[in-house]
Amino acid sequence: MKTLGLHHITAAAKDPQTNLDFYQQILGQRLTKTTVNFDDPGTYHFYYGDYTGTPGTALTFFPWAHINAGQPGNREAAAFSYSIPHNSLSFWAARLKQFGYNPSREDIRFGDAVLPFQDPDGLHLELITLPSQSAHISIIPTLHSNIPEEHQLRGFNSVTLWLDEVEPTARVLTEVLGLTFIGQEGHRYRYSTQSDELGQIIDIVHRPNAHSARFGAGSIHHIAFRAQTDQQQLDFRSAVQHIGIPATEVIDRQYFHSVYFRTPGGVLFEIATDLPGFATDEPLDALGQTLKLPVWFESRRAMIEQNLAPIDRNRKIAYVR
Ligand code: ZN
Repeated sequence: MKTLGLHHITAAAKDPQTNLDFYQQILGQRLTKTTVNFDDPGTYHFYYGDYTGTPGTALTFFPWAHINAGQPGNREAAAFSYSIPHNSLSFWAARLKQFGYNPSREDIRFGDAVLPFQDPDGLHLELITLPSQSAHISIIPTLHSNIPEEHQLRGFNSVTLWLDEVEPTARVLTEVLGLTFIGQEGHRYRYSTQSDELGQIIDIVHRPNAHSARFGAGSIHHIAFRAQTDQQQLDFRSAVQHIGIPATEVIDRQYFHSVYFRTPGGVLFEIATDLPGFATDEPLDALGQTLKLPVWFESRRAMIEQNLAPIDRNRKIAYVR
């Protein structure tokens, strides 16, 4: 049993408008759903992705206006990366600078070029070039962006976990999720689904005795792996429990079904189903443009809408230079 790769990544932000502007306009992602946090309906839940929100492109945010900035550290997913075409690095470096998001120095990791930068809340993001032969990495390009199709982000590349110990979490990746250990570079241990799908790689950076993260804006809340069917999700859930880790019941998240469990290293993992997807409660060409609520919140819509900060989904932001 093996996951095909990452399904979605969920993080915390502070200001909803700043978050919308950055991910839509600077990174060129499509807003594929505007809803609320089902466990906290006073808070938005934004989903970004490719045109349809394909699993492996889905990035989601809870913008909590009153939280402090997070502090990166152990026991969390400290960074994630998008794949970009092998010849798009200079395009992206220039674009980030144009908008005032100066990337850090480029790096090479397992042979691929890495461009690190931070989002407006300090979330650590990376763009990683695909090998030139990786034509099979395909997303559904969005029309809602001025980024030429040939340079658009190609979905998730990897997530980096910062951990006190490698082994206990590595066991979850390999024994439960079916990833394979493929190598070590310094303190970085790499695991891959080797599936030819988006979001194949999980890196563990071993940081013994380093301080733990403090959760806040710019922190990754959890990472979700794909289950192709509800049955496969139940099988993953049993496998998690089999190695002594408690897992939640299956929870209906409207666009997928979820099971959550806390890994021994402290990071919250989720197993999410590929179906039903985002086009179930609004047409594909209108995704994200109105506030969608699950049926169990509809009777409270007026109150929920009143408590959410006003947003302009299509506000145009300018270059800083
Ligand atoms: Zn999730």
